[in-house]
Amino acid sequence: MRDSIKNKKRIVVKIGSSSLFYKDTGKLDYLKIERLVRVLSTLANSGRDVILVSSGAIATGRNSMGLSSNERSIPVRQACAAIGQAQLITVYQRLFAEYGRTAAQVLLTRYTIHSELTRTNASNTFEELFRLGAIPIVNENDTVTTEEIEFGDNDCLSAMVAALVEADLLILLSDIDGLYDSDPRKNPDAKFIPVVNDIESVEGMGSGAGTEYGTGGMASKIEAAKIACGAGTDMIITNAGDLDNIIKIMRGEECGTLFTASSTSKFEFREFDIKD
Ligand code: GLU
Repeated sequence: MRDSIKNKKRIVVKIGSSSLFYKDTGKLDYLKIERLVRVLSTLANSGRDVILVSSGAIATGRNSMGLSSNERSIPVRQACAAIGQAQLITVYQRLFAEYGRTAAQVLLTRYTIHSELTRTNASNTFEELFRLGAIPIVNENDTVTTEEIEFGDNDCLSAMVAALVEADLLILLSDIDGLYDSDPRKNPDAKFIPVVNDIESVEGMGSGAGTEYGTGGMASKIEAAKIACGAGTDMIITNAGDLDNIIKIMRGEECGTLFTASSTSKFEFREFDIKD
């Protein structure tokens, strides 16, 4: 099963805020970002289409304005996203340029995915960016979203993007090696699950809460797997602590938890309605 991963041509990689920032200072881990950019540029050089879904806009903006993580009102988050997204994309653009790649910013909302017109527009833009050899860097357009319409976490956003571009593989970089049958931080006997062929068998596993910086957590990754696998995309959760895990995965090595794409489910975008 892992051997077939080598042939995946269109890859979406998602990294969350907790993997990009130092917990104690709230500042960016440039070495980590630099490694990520190098690995993704290498994948692109091997002839693959690559999309990066990156969080971190709000945390970057917060840090830049000297605000604490307790300031969580929607206007504060929206303003911080406006400030931080520009700063974050500047860092990515500079680093990708060092490897001869052009980074492109794509900001999406639930409305983009919900409406057929904007969905088609976004899909056409991704195709053109691939044709040009650019690397799309996707985030939620937090500046214009409110709780009712936000994806909330970028796990589900990345799965929607994978469905939109008909990606072959979605890699979710996490602060854990993959899926365990119970929380390994609390239970030393927790068993690692290398492959999931039936999402329903693991539903309910994983705690709901994310980390201090991110909003995800394992529950939202299982939700993402439902979307991605339902759309025919394999998904792998792996540890962001070692970004060479991406290379290992692409070599077909056992790494992380593989959720295999469903061969039967009929995927339709209109299933994803705006939250009530
Ligand atoms: N879109 C948010 C940001 O860039 C983060 C969402 C998440 O935590 O996944 O700051």
